[in-house]
Amino acid sequence: MIEGIRRWVETESPTRDRAAVNRMIDLVQSDVTELPVAVERVPGRDGFADNLIIRNQAAGRGAGILILSHIDTVHPIGTLAGPLPFRRDGDRLYGPGLFDMKGGAYLALEAFRQVAKAGSAKLPVTFMFTPDEEVGSPTSRNLIETEAKRARYVLVTEPARDGGKIVTARKGVGRFEIRTTGVPAHSGARHQDGRSAIKEMARQILAIEDMTDYPRGVTTTVGIISGGTAPNVIPQHCHISVDLRVCDEAAGAEFEAKILGLEPFDAGVKVEISGGMNRPPFEKSAAIDVLFRHAQAVARQIGFDLQHTEMTGGGSDGNFTAALGVPTLDGLGIDGDGAHTEWEHGLISSIEPRTLLMRGLLETLQ
Ligand SMILES: [Zn+2]
Repeated sequence: MIEGIRRWVETESPTRDRAAVNRMIDLVQSDVTELPVAVERVPGRDGFADNLIIRNQAAGRGAGILILSHIDTVHPIGTLAGPLPFRRDGDRLYGPGLFDMKGGAYLALEAFRQVAKAGSAKLPVTFMFTPDEEVGSPTSRNLIETEAKRARYVLVTEPARDGGKIVTARKGVGRFEIRTTGVPAHSGARHQDGRSAIKEMARQILAIEDMTDYPRGVTTTVGIISGGTAPNVIPQHCHISVDLRVCDEAAGAEFEAKILGLEPFDAGVKVEISGGMNRPPFEKSAAIDVLFRHAQAVARQIGFDLQHTEMTGGGSDGNFTAALGVPTLDGLGIDGDGAHTEWEHGLISSIEPRTLLMRGLLETLQ
């Protein structure tokens, strides 16, 4: 298993490098050639790589189980040769995308392979590998939703957290781009004629950051800013990117409207706002609770205690499927820490129990 994970991690696959992500998809495809499964490769679009859909229909063609793994990572090519080579240190396996989420995708595929070979699933199983989760799944979302509507359950192999906990609820995510356009002027000679796009944006930023409401689980973050051309020019342009997190649909609609409705403080500066909710909230329904308890029973049989986290702030493709009302379990991937950092690692000791958990779910869900 470690050798297999090494092969996947050493095939670097940053989202926006289409050729690199397709090499990763090739590798996944080559790992299922011997299996009695149908493989469909959906060509990528808009500069993103392909989606790979693997179907084990030994149990028929009705509503079944959908497994979701994204095979892109946030790490640029060269991370492996630079700050984050594949390496083992005690129980830890380091490497770009090892925790988020190649370790989990690999162990889930291993469970799927075992079940496909043995013909031991009670339901048809569809395994989807997607190329663009790390940028919000712009080209895979439709495919994911189409498959999810046909599914009885969705299992997502995002990383486990806090000592192996899985995920049964995630906040919804909104993304916004805001541009201010002022009037440029010489900062010495004609200061009074200028209208500063940066000054206006500074006030907008404080208004947006002040929307954060921890008791309601609402957070707003201005994560990117750019603007201006020189110290001695009243700036004409400024741009920011905004991230919004909410716990439920009502808050999503409320804060989306608040951000889209921001008005200029200075009438001489134009404010343009685009964006909206990108991932709907993944709320823990009664059906998700039933599915979680089933997984807990499977884990108990294997010999470990499975728990879930409180609602997490990070979004995933599970947000799309849970919002469609399909019972979804997430965080079924490898345990570890450091997603998106140069100390990203998975725990070797979590590989076997979580492979068995995935296999147990595929063999018992009906
Ligand atoms: Zn991920």
